[in-house]
Amino acid sequence: PRTSVITGSASGIGKATRELLEGRGERVIGVDIHDADVVADLATTDGRTAMVDAVRTAAGGSIDAVYAVAGLALPAPATVAVNYFGTVATLEGLRPLLAGSDAPRALLVSSMAALMATDDELVALLAAGDEPAALARAEVLAKEPAATGQLIYSSTKLGLSRWVRRRAAAGEWAGAGIPLNAVSPGIIATPMTADLIATPEGREALLGIVPMPLNGIAEPIVVARLLAWLNSPDNTHLCGQVIYVDGGSDVVLRGDSV
Ligand code: NAD
Repeated sequence: PRTSVITGSASGIGKATRELLEGRGERVIGVDIHDADVVADLATTDGRTAMVDAVRTAAGGSIDAVYAVAGLALPAPATVAVNYFGTVATLEGLRPLLAGSDAPRALLVSSMAALMATDDELVALLAAGDEPAALARAEVLAKEPAATGQLIYSSTKLGLSRWVRRRAAAGEWAGAGIPLNAVSPGIIATPMTADLIATPEGREALLGIVPMPLNGIAEPIVVARLLAWLNSPDNTHLCGQVIYVDGGSDVVLRGDSV
């Protein structure tokens, strides 16, 4: 059976993915800040290093797939640390462990929020890989009105989608036989969105910003099924894509751009 590592495995999309894979008889090493096989704080460099070490030990040296799902939606610098730098460190740190697999796969979870307003300065600092400066910029944005705080989240997700586009064709990914992709969900019913979608008024307001003409707000299993296919041996050629599983938000917002 394949061995997969899932960050954010304790809740929401990560948890649904874990249950789906385990239901198929696959082995999952869950990573999270609580209730996981490997408990680690992906907001810190020490936590990221400890996570890679613990996964290597738990896996016995080799893994088949990485699902970088963990994320935060707080209008705070921690969102930059977890969403962008924690995700990139997860994929880069665990990549060597994929070398022993005959069907290595990797993906991250971005968001359709990447299509919303973002902060150019923060996005540029993410592209430069400058964590201290990116955290400092987020500190400034966090002190501004709530609408500006949302820029932190959307900027981290734009940064992640672009990171996949920049890295996927490189020697260490495609060149090493590893498809690397991003999945961008629309609104998914998880603890991350629970407060926002608890009332009909809340749901209506959110769907006004994130239109989902096809079937509306989705359950996390919907995303999990796509993640599981992308990271399965069946995916031999889907590479460097940012796939929207969003009930149509992307087509509503971006029309016929491709
Ligand atoms: P969730 O809050 O249910 O799960 C996120 C998990 O990440 C939690 O278990 C949490 O403990 C973990 N995590 C947070 N900080 C961490 C840290 N420092 N170290 C380790 N683990 C940490 O949310 P979800 O909706 O399942 O989100 C999963 C991913 O999907 C996130 O990247 C999120 O941005 C993305 N996403 C969610 C939605 C949505 O509508 N729910 C939409 C688009 C994208």
